[in-house]
Amino acid sequence: MKLKYLGTAAAEGVPALFCFCPVCRRAAELGGRNIRTRSQALIDDKILIDLPPDTYMHVLNYGLDLKEITTLIITHSHADHLYATELEMRNPGFAHAPEGIGEKPLNIFASKIAGVPIRRIIEEEEIDENTVKLNCVEAFKPFEAEGYVITPYKASHAKIAGPFIYSISDGKKTLLYAHDTGYFLEETWEALKKINPYFDFVSLDCTGMLLNYTGNHMGIDACNDVREKLIEIGCADENTKWCYQHFSHNGLLTYDEMVPIAQERGFLVAYDGMEVEI
Ligand SMILES: [Zn+2]
Ligand SMILES: [Zn+2]
Ligand SMILES: [Zn+2]
Repeated sequence: MKLKYLGTAAAEGVPALFCFCPVCRRAAELGGRNIRTRSQALIDDKILIDLPPDTYMHVLNYGLDLKEITTLIITHSHADHLYATELEMRNPGFAHAPEGIGEKPLNIFASKIAGVPIRRIIEEEEIDENTVKLNCVEAFKPFEAEGYVITPYKASHAKIAGPFIYSISDGKKTLLYAHDTGYFLEETWEALKKINPYFDFVSLDCTGMLLNYTGNHMGIDACNDVREKLIEIGCADENTKWCYQHFSHNGLLTYDEMVPIAQERGFLVAYDGMEVEI
């Protein structure tokens, strides 16, 4: 399974849109991996995770081919993960599709709450089911897409955004994509114990980096606590790979400054364009 990180920032981006802070200034000067766009990821060139405002930039920078992608998973409805207005661009007139594309709608999977802005744009812009199809999924109930088994778990994040984290399995390898979330909810731990998946790769929210974030997001300490607990309940072991993702300038570090800290703790640091073979 191939995971490609297209964007790795929290809502503001790094450097942040309107910010003069030292981290943003250092990131702008250094460039390269220190520049982060809003979070989005791609699995095996088939499954897109989230639709941030920087999706178009990812199309341009990474050759992300949206014409070929018919599966989109939404983590939650915060605008840095779901810029629903963009879905109108799939409508006839905005997109000129070859014959037959109508048989393949963009299938979107989201919680009922995260689906609200998607439903709104579908209704307002009269997008038909052959163009964009919304599938509401429920916590802890696995579903199938593109031959992958995907399980939503409840995230510890703004309830109003209907947040899920997802495990994605191709039958051989399993990824846990955990953004945005704080330290996992008790019901998610209980579900993990019951469903009992084994994760080959775990991508964890590290918005706060050095700061002690535990509620809506995490820092390195909470990421360590999640790793310990996942190992304790048998969902991970010494062969599991760990990666920090979803960074804010408020976490006080650029990519370059974060790498040695992550190495000490046995974590990778995601950057825009990073590809991992799971
Ligand atoms: Zn976010
Ligand atoms: Zn800043
Ligand atoms: Zn969020």
